[in-house]
Amino acid sequence: MADGPLLVYGPKSLTYDFGPRHPLSPRRFGPGIELLRAVGAEPGLAPEPATDAELEWLHSRDYIAAVRRFSSDPDDPGAPATAGIGPGDDPAFAGMHEAAATVAGGSIRAMEAILRGDVEHAYQPGGGLHHAMRSRASGFCIYNDVALAIARARRDFLRVLYIDLDVHHGDGVQALHYDDPGVMTISFHESGRSLFPGTGFVAEMGEGIAAGTSVNVALEPMCGPDSWLAAVRAVVPPLAAAFGPHIIVSQHGSDGHVWDPLAHLSLTTTAMGEAARLVDRLAHRYAGGRWLATGGGGYSVYRVVPRVWALTWLAGAHLEAPRLLPAEWRARWEADAARWDDGPLPVAFEDTAGVPSERSTSPDAAERAKTTVSLVRNVLVPALLRVAESRGWRQFDGDVTDPPPSATPAGEAPPARRVEGQAEPSVRLLTAADLEALVLAPRVIAPADPKVAAEILRAAVRDGAVAVGAVVGEWLVGIAMAAPASASSVDGAGGAGAVDQLVALGVAPEWRRRGVATAMLRALVTEQDRRGRGMAALHTAGERDPDDPLPRAVRREVAERLASRSGLTVSAAPPEISAVDPDARAAIRVPSGTRVPPEFPPEI
Ligand SMILES: [Zn+2]
Repeated sequence: MADGPLLVYGPKSLTYDFGPRHPLSPRRFGPGIELLRAVGAEPGLAPEPATDAELEWLHSRDYIAAVRRFSSDPDDPGAPATAGIGPGDDPAFAGMHEAAATVAGGSIRAMEAILRGDVEHAYQPGGGLHHAMRSRASGFCIYNDVALAIARARRDFLRVLYIDLDVHHGDGVQALHYDDPGVMTISFHESGRSLFPGTGFVAEMGEGIAAGTSVNVALEPMCGPDSWLAAVRAVVPPLAAAFGPHIIVSQHGSDGHVWDPLAHLSLTTTAMGEAARLVDRLAHRYAGGRWLATGGGGYSVYRVVPRVWALTWLAGAHLEAPRLLPAEWRARWEADAARWDDGPLPVAFEDTAGVPSERSTSPDAAERAKTTVSLVRNVLVPALLRVAESRGWRQFDGDVTDPPPSATPAGEAPPARRVEGQAEPSVRLLTAADLEALVLAPRVIAPADPKVAAEILRAAVRDGAVAVGAVVGEWLVGIAMAAPASASSVDGAGGAGAVDQLVALGVAPEWRRRGVATAMLRALVTEQDRRGRGMAALHTAGERDPDDPLPRAVRREVAERLASRSGLTVSAAPPEISAVDPDARAAIRVPSGTRVPPEFPPEI
């Protein structure tokens, strides 16, 4: 296996060129590829155009025909204006079809190298054209190479986690996979209120069976590197654990940097490099190492783009970045940088103290980032994973002591088969010893890996959680669990009189629709009543079976029916949650003498 990610770059990469005055310039390949070579990367895959059949996985035939017309005659006034091509962001240029198809071909071929097992990681710095839509060019993007690479993996029925770190919302990738529950897109970006393309708010969370697989973290201008990185760390790891991807695809646009001329998040290369290392860790932890990285935006061609490209590759090579940029590299590009008004060149890979300055970061924006992250987690991260982190049962970021990941997270363990004539599962309270002895079946509760789910359950019960299980032989085929959601919700001695949170409720697929969940929830309610403690539940789009999710409305109906049959009172979810997830519901049971928590749901 190669020493670092397969680097996708070749002569044809330079042909994606909207002209000398366009911000997305092939000039970036000169200093970018040279700095990559300086840290040990060598191009290993020269992109060639994707075929029309491949482009048609996601783009319409009419659109491809329109791009071809502009490509052979850029001044043709007869081509339809609706294709998004014309003066402005996406001007026509001779050969634009072949150039754009080449970027797509690079990402598709890189994906195939990963799927074949030739390499673990691949990286196309010229890729990441995440705004292109099915029938429309947008935001410097003609064909959506990242979305096509994802489509290639989907043809092998793999679940794909897509992480978009570009300063602009990854709207094209989101739109092209919006109704596919097998693709989770997570985008961190400057808010659409201040920046192109104007979308990417929390309420865009996928639809139907895919509800909960489109995740958007919109940040305000000047939020700064600390709150950006904190958002990435708070959102991506638990969602990766819940989703159980077979492969990770990421977009590492460097345009969030404080020196970038087009946007305003005030980030640093240090934060971007750290985020790339996080993605690498998650690929190894959850996806058998399978990771396709792409570049993206980045318009500080000399000061920022080359450093972020190098840091992204180094993350996949599992190497520390050198502290200083090579002197020869700086000498070679200093004059070009000055000529293009992008100097002086920095001396180090990571940004040193004072970058960004206090004037370019805003405490208000950092505060609002926390609120947004909290909302995203409450709505899209399963409750068990949120509470596992807040109670210290499990941390999902960079737990390098974890056992090695299973080769394929889903489907490798034998499910608890229902044999005709076999007795119903026995529903009973579980002790810590039960949880040691029983084997948790796949797809009962989050996270996707049942071994990790079982570890979380054991830690929870040691911490005072109450668990009811549905047991068949040695298998645990159902779980209902209540726990104090945070330290502040644990009442004094004895713990009576408080309201716990329903943190997990699920049944293995073979045992669903048989009343098992209702029986477990009733048993849990009885036990909570006996202990004099209440129970609250929050049903959101984040509570889903990643393998075979039900339509959103059906999930909500099932949750409502279960809660009301088990003695909980169903109500609307808190307004900030209902505003983004209209199907969200709250449910509560308050035994006499129980104190309702002032804030619900509790958060990180
Ligand atoms: Zn790696």
